[in-house]
Amino acid sequence: MINGIVADIQRASVHDGPGIRTTIFLKGCPLHCAWCHNPECIDFEPQTMYYPEKCIGCGLCNEGCFSGAKVICGREMTVEEVVKQVLLDKDYYGTDGGVTFSGGEPLAQREFLSALIDACKEQGIHCAVETSLIYFNEEIFRKIDLVMADLKIWDDKLHKKYTGVSNGAIKEHFRKLNEMNIPVIARTPVIPEISQGIEQISEFLKKLSNVRKYELLPYHPLGSAKREALGIEPDGFTIPSAEYMKGLEKYVFIRE
Ligand code: SF4
Ligand code: SF4
Repeated sequence: MINGIVADIQRASVHDGPGIRTTIFLKGCPLHCAWCHNPECIDFEPQTMYYPEKCIGCGLCNEGCFSGAKVICGREMTVEEVVKQVLLDKDYYGTDGGVTFSGGEPLAQREFLSALIDACKEQGIHCAVETSLIYFNEEIFRKIDLVMADLKIWDDKLHKKYTGVSNGAIKEHFRKLNEMNIPVIARTPVIPEISQGIEQISEFLKKLSNVRKYELLPYHPLGSAKREALGIEPDGFTIPSAEYMKGLEKYVFIRE
């Protein structure tokens, strides 16, 4: 039996790939992006998150918190347990939807991810993965229907500074996915204080015929409450204005 650590399972998601999807957030990521909107998915182990505004001061912490003030993020699950959740919405997936494996970095739990894909495929479910592309696993990518991957910053020094890793391997993995002709939706997060090289990223991606779409994702402080609940300092970044995003529109593209 293969187990993994799952941070969350979101049903009826319409933001994690085409159609209606179930998104499985696997815990653990080797990157440390300064703006991470899923900071609870970076650590590989389960973590306690504390929301003081929900605490009713009952003093029963040792028995488990029923008010939602203290929650554990991350629990060990079997492949069967996860797939059971995925199958609950199978009737709503239609021809576009399915399951998206996200995180964290889902390829960090390689064996678990591979077994989950196999089990979903057996049920005829479309499988997508959201990945930083820091890892490359040919066996996994061969059986996935769609890869959603970020090229976050073009300059390697800045990439290292803001994510903790070089982007050399990530660029190489984009090229390898192209050689394998695996459909990719590429994205770049837009953080006014950090973003760099969007023009170069767009040019790089245009040369890869497997890239179906290049999207820009404006920074959103979705992770703020979660950072606070984990005891992490606020990231302090700002949401790009509509005007700022409009100025970047010329770099996005979509292919049929
Ligand atoms: S159990 Fe929850 S609500 Fe009660 S004191 Fe502990 S954190 Fe607060
Ligand atoms: S790759 Fe994704 S999950 Fe990992 S730190 Fe960056 S934004 Fe967070």
